[in-house]
Amino acid sequence: MSQCLVCHESIAVVSWVSTILIKQENICYRCKRELHLIEGHVCEDCGRMGNFESRCTDCLRWGEHPYWSKYRVKNRSIYQYNEGMKMILNQFKFRGDYELYKAFEAEMRKVFIRDFTKIDLISFIPLSDERLYERGFNQAEVLAQLITSNAVPLLVKKEESKQSKKNRQERISTENPFILLPHIHLQDNHILLIDDIYTTGTTIRHAAQLLLQEGAKQVSSLTLIRS
Ligand SMILES: [Zn+2]
Ligand SMILES: [Zn+2]
Repeated sequence: MSQCLVCHESIAVVSWVSTILIKQENICYRCKRELHLIEGHVCEDCGRMGNFESRCTDCLRWGEHPYWSKYRVKNRSIYQYNEGMKMILNQFKFRGDYELYKAFEAEMRKVFIRDFTKIDLISFIPLSDERLYERGFNQAEVLAQLITSNAVPLLVKKEESKQSKKNRQERISTENPFILLPHIHLQDNHILLIDDIYTTGTTIRHAAQLLLQEGAKQVSSLTLIRS
Protein backbone atom coordinates (compact mmCIF):
# COMPACT_ATOMS: atom_id res chain seq x y z
CA MET A 1 0.00 0.00 0.00
CA SER A 2 1.47 3.34 -0.98
CA GLN A 3 0.64 6.80 0.29
CA CYS A 4 -0.38 9.87 -1.68
CA LEU A 5 2.52 12.33 -1.56
CA VAL A 6 0.12 15.26 -1.41
CA CYS A 7 -2.54 14.32 1.18
CA HIS A 8 -0.82 11.27 2.72
CA GLU A 9 -3.94 9.09 2.34
CA SER A 10 -3.41 5.50 1.30
CA ILE A 11 -3.70 4.75 -2.37
CA ALA A 12 -5.81 1.67 -2.87
CA VAL A 13 -4.35 -0.81 -5.32
CA VAL A 14 -7.05 -2.23 -7.55
CA SER A 15 -5.58 -5.63 -8.14
CA TRP A 16 -2.39 -7.61 -8.28
CA VAL A 17 -2.27 -7.10 -12.01
CA SER A 18 -2.30 -3.33 -11.71
CA THR A 19 0.66 -3.32 -9.35
CA ILE A 20 2.69 -5.27 -11.88
CA LEU A 21 1.58 -3.63 -15.10
CA ILE A 22 1.10 -0.04 -14.08
CA LYS A 23 3.84 2.10 -12.64
CA GLN A 24 3.10 2.72 -8.98
CA GLU A 25 1.01 5.87 -8.52
CA ASN A 26 2.25 8.29 -5.92
CA ILE A 27 -0.63 10.74 -6.03
CA CYS A 28 -4.23 9.74 -5.28
CA TYR A 29 -7.14 10.35 -7.67
CA ARG A 30 -8.69 13.00 -5.38
CA CYS A 31 -5.53 15.10 -5.48
CA LYS A 32 -5.02 14.42 -9.16
CA ARG A 33 -8.52 15.73 -9.84
CA GLU A 34 -7.56 19.07 -8.27
CA LEU A 35 -4.68 19.54 -10.68
CA HIS A 36 -5.21 20.67 -14.26
CA LEU A 37 -2.70 19.59 -16.85
CA ILE A 38 -1.90 21.95 -19.69
CA GLU A 39 -3.16 20.22 -22.81
CA GLY A 40 -4.11 21.14 -26.35
CA HIS A 41 -3.31 24.44 -28.01
CA VAL A 42 -0.64 26.49 -26.24
CA CYS A 43 1.27 29.70 -26.93
CA GLU A 44 4.40 28.70 -28.83
CA ASP A 45 6.54 30.92 -26.61
CA CYS A 46 5.26 30.71 -23.02
CA GLY A 47 3.27 27.46 -23.19
CA ARG A 48 0.02 28.90 -21.82
CA MET A 49 -3.32 27.48 -22.99
CA GLY A 50 -5.73 29.76 -24.82
CA ASN A 51 -7.47 30.95 -27.95
CA PHE A 52 -4.79 32.77 -29.83
CA GLU A 53 -3.09 32.04 -33.09
CA SER A 54 0.52 31.27 -32.26
CA ARG A 55 1.52 33.63 -29.46
CA CYS A 56 -0.48 35.05 -26.53
CA THR A 57 -0.80 38.81 -25.97
CA ASP A 58 1.91 38.80 -23.27
CA CYS A 59 4.38 37.13 -25.61
CA LEU A 60 3.47 39.45 -28.48
CA ARG A 61 4.34 42.31 -26.13
CA TRP A 62 7.64 40.67 -25.19
CA GLY A 63 8.32 40.30 -28.91
CA GLU A 64 7.79 44.01 -29.50
CA HIS A 65 9.81 45.16 -26.52
CA PRO A 66 12.80 47.24 -27.63
CA TYR A 67 15.16 45.47 -25.26
CA TRP A 68 13.68 42.07 -24.44
CA SER A 69 12.68 41.07 -27.95
CA LYS A 70 16.19 39.74 -28.60
CA TYR A 71 15.93 37.32 -25.66
CA ARG A 72 13.17 35.03 -26.85
CA VAL A 73 12.60 31.98 -24.67
CA LYS A 74 10.43 28.95 -25.25
CA ASN A 75 8.74 27.85 -22.04
CA ARG A 76 6.62 24.80 -21.42
CA SER A 77 4.75 24.10 -18.21
CA ILE A 78 2.99 21.02 -16.86
CA TYR A 79 0.07 22.37 -14.82
CA GLN A 80 -2.22 25.36 -14.80
CA TYR A 81 -2.21 27.50 -11.69
CA ASN A 82 -5.40 26.90 -9.69
CA GLU A 83 -6.49 26.48 -6.07
CA GLY A 84 -5.31 22.88 -5.93
CA MET A 85 -1.92 23.80 -7.27
CA LYS A 86 -1.68 26.79 -4.94
CA MET A 87 -2.15 24.47 -1.99
CA ILE A 88 0.46 22.04 -3.27
CA LEU A 89 2.92 24.81 -4.00
CA ASN A 90 2.62 26.12 -0.45
CA GLN A 91 3.19 22.66 0.94
CA PHE A 92 6.13 22.16 -1.37
CA LYS A 93 7.81 25.51 -0.85
CA PHE A 94 6.96 26.75 2.57
CA ARG A 95 6.40 23.66 4.64
CA GLY A 96 9.52 22.06 3.31
CA ASP A 97 7.77 18.95 2.05
CA TYR A 98 10.68 17.77 -0.02
CA GLU A 99 9.22 14.34 -0.85
CA LEU A 100 6.21 15.88 -2.54
CA TYR A 101 8.21 16.70 -5.63
CA LYS A 102 8.26 13.05 -6.64
CA ALA A 103 4.55 13.29 -7.38
CA PHE A 104 5.45 15.30 -10.49
CA GLU A 105 8.20 13.10 -11.84
CA ALA A 106 6.24 11.28 -14.53
CA GLU A 107 4.63 14.43 -15.94
CA MET A 108 7.89 16.40 -15.85
CA ARG A 109 9.67 13.68 -17.79
CA LYS A 110 6.84 13.34 -20.27
CA VAL A 111 6.81 17.04 -21.16
CA PHE A 112 10.61 17.20 -21.25
CA ILE A 113 10.79 14.37 -23.78
CA ARG A 114 7.84 15.63 -25.81
CA ASP A 115 8.74 19.33 -26.05
CA PHE A 116 12.50 19.64 -25.87
CA THR A 117 15.07 18.19 -28.20
CA LYS A 118 18.80 18.79 -28.49
CA ILE A 119 19.30 20.15 -24.98
CA ASP A 120 23.00 20.36 -24.10
CA LEU A 121 22.70 21.43 -20.50
CA ILE A 122 20.02 21.45 -17.83
CA SER A 123 20.16 24.09 -15.12
CA PHE A 124 17.74 25.71 -12.67
CA ILE A 125 16.75 29.11 -11.31
CA PRO A 126 18.69 29.73 -8.09
CA LEU A 127 17.42 30.94 -4.73
CA SER A 128 19.24 33.56 -2.71
CA ASP A 129 21.43 32.18 0.10
CA GLU A 130 19.06 33.65 2.63
CA ARG A 131 16.02 31.93 1.11
CA LEU A 132 17.89 28.68 0.63
CA TYR A 133 18.84 28.67 4.30
CA GLU A 134 15.24 29.30 5.32
CA ARG A 135 13.80 26.62 3.09
CA GLY A 136 16.53 24.02 3.22
CA PHE A 137 16.35 23.23 -0.49
CA ASN A 138 15.83 24.92 -3.84
CA GLN A 139 12.56 23.66 -5.31
CA ALA A 140 13.77 24.42 -8.85
CA GLU A 141 16.84 22.26 -8.36
CA VAL A 142 14.72 19.48 -6.91
CA LEU A 143 12.46 19.62 -9.98
CA ALA A 144 15.51 19.55 -12.27
CA GLN A 145 16.67 16.38 -10.55
CA LEU A 146 13.47 14.68 -11.66
CA ILE A 147 14.73 14.74 -15.23
CA THR A 148 18.50 14.55 -14.81
CA SER A 149 21.12 13.73 -12.23
CA ASN A 150 23.44 16.18 -13.99
CA ALA A 151 21.74 19.53 -13.50
CA VAL A 152 24.43 22.20 -13.49
CA PRO A 153 24.26 25.38 -11.38
CA LEU A 154 25.03 28.35 -13.66
CA LEU A 155 23.60 31.34 -11.82
CA VAL A 156 23.57 32.91 -8.38
CA LYS A 157 20.75 35.05 -7.06
CA LYS A 158 22.11 38.37 -5.82
CA GLU A 159 19.79 39.14 -2.95
CA GLU A 160 16.20 38.64 -2.03
CA SER A 161 14.24 41.39 -3.74
CA LYS A 162 10.58 41.86 -3.03
CA GLN A 163 9.73 40.92 -6.61
CA SER A 164 6.22 39.66 -5.96
CA LYS A 165 5.16 43.04 -4.54
CA LYS A 166 6.05 44.89 -7.69
CA ASN A 167 3.81 45.22 -10.71
CA ARG A 168 4.64 43.88 -14.15
CA GLN A 169 6.14 47.09 -15.47
CA GLU A 170 8.39 47.46 -12.43
CA ARG A 171 9.51 43.87 -12.72
CA ILE A 172 10.41 44.24 -16.38
CA SER A 173 12.51 47.29 -15.74
CA THR A 174 14.30 46.03 -12.61
CA GLU A 175 17.94 45.12 -12.75
CA ASN A 176 19.00 41.55 -13.29
CA PRO A 177 18.66 39.64 -9.99
CA PHE A 178 21.17 37.01 -11.12
CA ILE A 179 24.86 36.83 -11.79
CA LEU A 180 26.68 34.16 -13.74
CA LEU A 181 28.98 31.83 -11.83
CA PRO A 182 32.65 32.26 -12.79
CA HIS A 183 34.36 29.99 -15.33
CA ILE A 184 31.18 29.04 -17.16
CA HIS A 185 31.57 28.24 -20.85
CA LEU A 186 28.35 28.00 -22.75
CA GLN A 187 29.49 28.28 -26.35
CA ASP A 188 26.70 27.17 -28.66
CA ASN A 189 24.85 25.30 -25.93
CA HIS A 190 21.09 24.96 -25.81
CA ILE A 191 20.29 25.37 -22.12
CA LEU A 192 17.10 24.27 -20.41
CA LEU A 193 16.26 26.15 -17.22
CA ILE A 194 13.96 24.56 -14.67
CA ASP A 195 11.75 26.53 -12.29
CA ASP A 196 8.58 25.93 -10.30
CA ILE A 197 6.39 28.62 -11.82
CA TYR A 198 6.28 30.87 -14.88
CA THR A 199 4.31 34.02 -14.12
CA THR A 200 5.33 37.03 -16.21
CA GLY A 201 8.41 35.43 -17.76
CA THR A 202 10.70 38.09 -16.32
CA THR A 203 12.72 35.72 -14.14
CA ILE A 204 13.43 33.37 -17.01
CA ARG A 205 14.36 36.25 -19.32
CA HIS A 206 16.79 37.73 -16.85
CA ALA A 207 18.48 34.36 -16.54
CA ALA A 208 18.40 33.81 -20.30
CA GLN A 209 19.89 37.23 -20.96
CA LEU A 210 23.05 36.36 -18.98
CA LEU A 211 23.40 32.92 -20.55
CA LEU A 212 22.90 34.19 -24.10
CA GLN A 213 25.35 37.01 -23.54
CA GLU A 214 27.84 34.39 -22.41
CA GLY A 215 27.54 32.56 -25.71
CA ALA A 216 24.66 30.13 -25.25
CA LYS A 217 22.92 29.36 -28.52
CA GLN A 218 19.42 29.08 -27.08
CA VAL A 219 17.72 29.14 -23.69
CA SER A 220 14.43 27.36 -23.01
CA SER A 221 12.57 26.73 -19.81
CA LEU A 222 10.44 24.03 -18.25
CA THR A 223 8.33 24.98 -15.27
CA LEU A 224 5.93 22.97 -13.20
CA ILE A 225 3.23 25.65 -13.38
CA ARG A 226 2.09 28.32 -15.83
CA SER A 227 0.14 30.89 -13.86
ZN1 LIG B 1 -3.98 12.67 -2.26
ZN1 LIG C 1 2.68 33.34 -24.47
